[in-house]
Amino acid sequence: MQIDLAGKTALVTGSTEGIGYAIARQLARAGADVVINGRSEEKTANAAERLKGEGAGGTVAAVAADVATAEGCDALVAKVPHVDILVNNAGIFQPLDFFEANDEVWDRHWQVNVMSAVRLSRAYLPGMQNVDWGRVIFIASESGFNIPVEMIHYGVSKTADIAVARGLAKRMAGTGITVNSVLPGPTLSEGVEAMLAEERAKTGKPIEEVAADFVKKHRGSSIIQRAASVEEIANLVTYLASPLASATTGASMRVDGGLIDTL
Ligand code: NAD
Repeated sequence: MQIDLAGKTALVTGSTEGIGYAIARQLARAGADVVINGRSEEKTANAAERLKGEGAGGTVAAVAADVATAEGCDALVAKVPHVDILVNNAGIFQPLDFFEANDEVWDRHWQVNVMSAVRLSRAYLPGMQNVDWGRVIFIASESGFNIPVEMIHYGVSKTADIAVARGLAKRMAGTGITVNSVLPGPTLSEGVEAMLAEERAKTGKPIEEVAADFVKKHRGSSIIQRAASVEEIANLVTYLASPLASATTGASMRVDGGLIDTL
């Protein structure tokens, strides 16, 4: 199976590190012209430079913009008016008990995890309709199905991503545009490394082991019993972004290590 994305422009939000960077790298290696996005100018430019040295087949651009705000999304769209592939990856997760999570926490998760994707989908889908081809991928989470008790606000935002993706797929019915959500399980990104830093310092164990302990303790239904690598998530996203995945739309695709315990 050959995945060739030459001539396609792909925007991956929140792609200076973590899952987003791995997705950007896979898409670039498949030949796409890739736009890297993060909030800081310096970090975004550095990530784009790094990507150029990692086998990018097409061009690599950097656009710093905070996609959690309407202004940030507008600025991004002004700089990159058309994309063929939109990966709504930018997201935050903050473990916090329901009774500690105030309105500000809920609103921040909603703006970063949901509204960024809503605004950018609204901005880019008409251009995809003009060329009758496009791919929109929401990076949701298994937490959208298995609402985590330690961060209900996060789970709800990811359920919303899955719902928006399903609705948009139907809205694009009969076109060459597909819209899907991808549901990673615990994945060893920079964000998760930061979340596990304290435990790592306490135990002195390698990060993979600390992550596997976390999975066994807090996500016991995981079949693989370990965290995924960012590349394992990027592999599925790259397939979905390709012309090969033309009959997959409106789907919530799991790359969760078997964690969601339903058929
Ligand atoms: P991460 O924290 O390692 O990286 C997040 C990236 O998003 C960073 O580049 C950060 O700069 C960027 N970002 C954050 N807010 C932004 C904003 N407002 N505007 C622009 N960029 C912004 O995160 P990750 O673990 O790689 O997660 C990526 C996505 O995958 C998120 O949507 C997350 O919810 C989802 N996810 C992660 C896991 C996991 O275990 N890592 C599991 C399921 C789903």
